[in-house]
Amino acid sequence: MKNCDQFRELIEAYALGALDPEDRAALEAHLAAGCPDCAKAVEEARWLVCQLAYTAPEATPSDMLKGRLMQTVRAEAQSERKPRMLPTKNAIPSWLWVGVAALLVFSVYSAWTTRRLQNEIREANERAATLGIEHGRVLEQLADAKREAMIMMDPTSRKIALWGEHAHPETLEAKWHSQLGVCIVGDKVPMPSANHVLQVWFIPKKEGAKPMPSAMVRPDANGKLMLYVSAPPESMDDTKAIAITEEPAGGSGWPTMPILWSGKVT
Ligand SMILES: [Zn+2]
Repeated sequence: MKNCDQFRELIEAYALGALDPEDRAALEAHLAAGCPDCAKAVEEARWLVCQLAYTAPEATPSDMLKGRLMQTVRAEAQSERKPRMLPTKNAIPSWLWVGVAALLVFSVYSAWTTRRLQNEIREANERAATLGIEHGRVLEQLADAKREAMIMMDPTSRKIALWGEHAHPETLEAKWHSQLGVCIVGDKVPMPSANHVLQVWFIPKKEGAKPMPSAMVRPDANGKLMLYVSAPPESMDDTKAIAITEEPAGGSGWPTMPILWSGKVT
């Protein structure tokens, strides 16, 4: 039987719908038993998810929630450092953990981004533990996760709303960092048809210039989309817009389908 403290560690994931069924059932039973503290924490986490998971940039999590996030990140870093988790030869340097943890903690972006990055880091680490050798690749994945967090948080990143055309009322959000690349996130994104992907295009300002084909992605089963474009066009100012179309798997060199989302870069 878990106590309140143990349930608290699950509450962000619960509010995000990311908890596994066993933990969820346990937490729901605990809530049904009428614990006022945990109920309040759930309410707060839900509020934060609503405020932050999508677009609201000004919302600030309460100290209580920040504290819990910090605890989660610390616990994560600690447990990953245990020697049984990692062959020491390939241990991930602790400065990287400190960097990632600090970035996650100070992120007001959202609880789900944090959760996702933590999962990514945990998975990368588990892979390192199993394989033992692919050190460089794991570091690369960590660097990607860190870059994504930095792009989302850096106030100098340019925020670009991608408005849905046709029957796509959802808005995606892109953040373009002049050095680090572009991150695109979205929620409740409809699944492309089988063997199709969502492909990003950068539309140049120059008259008659060809749209630049870029990264491809499929949203996850819950419609969450997070995409990192490492090599956008060199100059944001020469780019008119970002657009997304559905294309056959593998992508296209030229958009073959109508634009589903688009947003002006300036
Ligand atoms: Zn409780």
